[in-house]
Amino acid sequence: MSIKKILTPYPVDRAYDYLVPPHIEGVNDGAYVVVPLGTRNVIGVVWGEGGHEKLVASKLKPLVSVYDLTPMVLSHRKFIEWAAHYTMSPLGSFLKLALSVPSALEPPKKIKAFRLKHWDKKGGLSPAAARVMDIASDGLARRASELAREAGCGAGVIKTLAEKRFLEEVSLEEPPPCRRPDFDRQGAVLSKAQKAAADFLCESFSSSHEDNKTAPKPILLDGVTGSGKTEVYFEAVSAALKQGKQVLILLPEIALSNAFLGRFKDRFGCAPALWHSSLSDHMRKITWRGVATGDSKVVVGARSALFLPYKDLGLIIVDEEHDPAYKQEEGVIYNARDMAIVRAHMGKIPIVLVSATPSLETMQNVWLDKYQHLALPDRHGGAGMPDIHLIDLKKDKPERQRFIAPTLIDAIKKTLEGKGQALLFLNRRGYAPLTLCRSCGHRFECPRCTAWLIEHKKTNKLHCHHCGFDTKVPPTCPKCNESDSLVACGPGVERIFEEVREILPEARTAILSSDTADTHDKMKAILEDIREHRIDIIIGTQIIAKGHHFPKLTCVGIVDADLGLTGGDLRASERTFQLLHQVAGRAGREAEKGHVYLQTFTPESRVMQALAHGGRDEFLEVEASAREAARMPPFTRLAGIIVSGRDEKQVIDVSRKLGQSSPHGTGLQTLGPADAPMYRLRGKFRRRLLVRAEKTIDIQKAITHWLDNLKIPTAVRVQVDMDPQSFF
Ligand code: ADP
Ligand code: ZN
Ligand code: ZN
Repeated sequence: MSIKKILTPYPVDRAYDYLVPPHIEGVNDGAYVVVPLGTRNVIGVVWGEGGHEKLVASKLKPLVSVYDLTPMVLSHRKFIEWAAHYTMSPLGSFLKLALSVPSALEPPKKIKAFRLKHWDKKGGLSPAAARVMDIASDGLARRASELAREAGCGAGVIKTLAEKRFLEEVSLEEPPPCRRPDFDRQGAVLSKAQKAAADFLCESFSSSHEDNKTAPKPILLDGVTGSGKTEVYFEAVSAALKQGKQVLILLPEIALSNAFLGRFKDRFGCAPALWHSSLSDHMRKITWRGVATGDSKVVVGARSALFLPYKDLGLIIVDEEHDPAYKQEEGVIYNARDMAIVRAHMGKIPIVLVSATPSLETMQNVWLDKYQHLALPDRHGGAGMPDIHLIDLKKDKPERQRFIAPTLIDAIKKTLEGKGQALLFLNRRGYAPLTLCRSCGHRFECPRCTAWLIEHKKTNKLHCHHCGFDTKVPPTCPKCNESDSLVACGPGVERIFEEVREILPEARTAILSSDTADTHDKMKAILEDIREHRIDIIIGTQIIAKGHHFPKLTCVGIVDADLGLTGGDLRASERTFQLLHQVAGRAGREAEKGHVYLQTFTPESRVMQALAHGGRDEFLEVEASAREAARMPPFTRLAGIIVSGRDEKQVIDVSRKLGQSSPHGTGLQTLGPADAPMYRLRGKFRRRLLVRAEKTIDIQKAITHWLDNLKIPTAVRVQVDMDPQSFF
C-alpha cells in the first residue's frame, strides 16, 4: 500500500499522510479525493508522495475515494504553495480558493431531454405535433420546454409524442460555458501601431510554446485610453485558442464587463465563462467543472478566477493592472495582479498587463527590463486626447454652500447647448460626508467604527460605509436637543445632483453610484440610458471611471480633485493620478474634442501638473525617486501587521508585546505599534505595526520567527498583510 500526502481546503499549514488502499491504487498527484478528517469525510487534493515522516503506517487513515476528474496540474499546485508562503497564509486556505465549489466535484446532474426516435412524415399528427417533429427532425436533443416553446405548443404534446415513440427521452449534461469560441473570426482591422503590438504578443505566444523551458517575460501593454488595447489583446487570445489553450482575462470589477462581454461575443462568437461573486451556484458549478476539464476555453473574471484549476492555461491578461481592486483585503489577503505574474511564471505562459496608467511597481519592472513594454501612444480613429483645465478653487470660487465653480458651470452649459454630454465625478456616495450640529458641534459617528456617518437623502438615514450601520436622521440633536440644527458638511454625489438640478433644471441628470446601480440590471439600464443619450449630465462615483465608452461625452468635471490626496497613504499621489486620468479618459472618445476640468485647491501640485500636461512618465519617475529616497516600495518590501479584537485591553497588550520583540536589524525595521487610523471597525479595536525590509532580506522568515515566539490569546487576531496597499 502506498502513502500519499493530501491537502485539505481548511486553514492547515501542510498536507497530511494517508494510505492509498489497494482498490484505488495508482492515484495521481493532483487528483481530487475524499479523506477522513476527524469525524467527517472531506475533499482534498493529492499533494505528492507521503511516508517521509516517522509514522506507523497502520496508524494512517485510508483515502476514501477518488473523483473522476482531471487532476490539478503541477504548476497550479506549485502556485498555491508559493502564494501561501508569500502571503504567510495557511496552505489549505489557498487550496480553498481553488476548491471554492465542492459540489462541482460531483458529476453534474443530468437534464431530461427529447430527440427524434422515428417519424416517417406520414399524416396522423396534429399540426402542433407536426411542428414539434419538424423541429426535432434535425436529431438534436432538446428540453421539453424548449421544444414546446419553439413549436408554440403545450408540454402535453411532447409527452404524447414520447408515448407514441416518435420522440425518445435522453438525459444530457448541461454544457459548460464557452466551449467553442471562434478564434478564426476576423477581428478589427488594426492600425499599424496596434498590429505591431498584436504581432509581438502573438509571437511571444508561439515562442513560449516551442521552448517550454523558460517562462516568457511579462508584457506591459501600455496605451492611452481608447487606443485599442482590448482589440490588441484579443489577437493574443485568439492565438492562444488556436493552440487549444485556455485563457484567463482578469478584470478589476465585473461591473465594467457588460460592454466588454458584448465585444467579446462580437469577436469570438460566444460569451466567455464568467467568474465573479454574484454568480449563481449553478453557474459556479458548471463553470468550475468546465475550467477543470478544459472544456471552458476563456474565463473572464474578478481576482478569484486566478485560483480556478485550469486544465491547460495558456495565457493570462490582467486588464487595468494598476487597479486597487486587485487587492483582496479580507480573509486571505493577496494581490491578484502580483499572483497572476507568479501563476504565469509557474506555468511558463505569457502574461499581459494592460493599463493606460501603469502602476509604479510595473513601470519599475519595465525600467529594470524585467517586463517587456508595448506602447500604443494614440487614440484609435484619430480622436485626440482631451484638453485638461485646472480650476483653482481659491480664485474661481463656487457660491456659498455650492461646489461647482463658475467656469465649470459655463462649460457644462456650453456642452449641453452643443448637444454633448457632461460627467461630474465625485468619489463620494450619499449627500454629505459629515453631519454636525450647528449649535453644539456634535458630529455623527458610527458607534462601531472610527468613521463619520454619511447622510443619504435617498433613504433619509445616516449610514456607515464601513460596517453597514444606519440610523434615521433625528429631528433634534441627540446631544443638545436643539431642533433643526443639523447641517451637512461637504458634498456627496446626491448633493451635487441637487446643485445641478437647481442650476440646470431642464437637463436630464442621473446619479451613477453603487447606491443607484446596486444590481447588475440597474447598472445596465443606466449605462444604456447614457449611451443612448437619454441622460445629459451624469454624476458618478468611481464606478463610472473605468472602461466605459460614451460617444457623446465631451465634458468631464472633477468636483474634488484633491480628495484622494489627504491622509498619509504611500500611494495617494499615484492613485489620484490613475483615477483622475481614467475619468478624464472618458471625455471626447469620438470626433468631438473632450474637455476636462479639475477643481483643486493645489493647482501647482505635482499630480495636478502631471494631469494637466500629460507628463505621466515624468510624474512616475519623480514618484519613484521619492520612494527610493525614502526606502519605500517598490524598492523595499512592507508587511502590515494588524492586531484586532473586541477587548481593547487585550489588543493593546498583544500589540505592545509584539512591539517589544519586533524584528530589527540591518535593512529591517518595525514601526509601531500604533492605533490604526480606523481604530474601531465593526466593533473591533485595531492596532497596527509595519515591518519594512530591504529586498535582500527574507521578510517572511523574519515575521514567522517573530510571531511563532509569541503566545497570542485566541480572542485577538494578528493578521499579516504582505505588500499592503491600504493602511486603514
Ligand atoms: P482601450 O482598451 O485602449 O481603452 P478599446 O480597445 O476599448 O481601447 O478601443 C476603444 C474604441 O475604439 C472601441 O470602441 C474599439 O472598438 C475601437 N477600436 C479600437 N481599435 C479599433 C480598430 N482597429 N478598428 C475599429 N475600431 C477600433
Ligand atoms: Zn447639538
Ligand atoms: Zn460602522
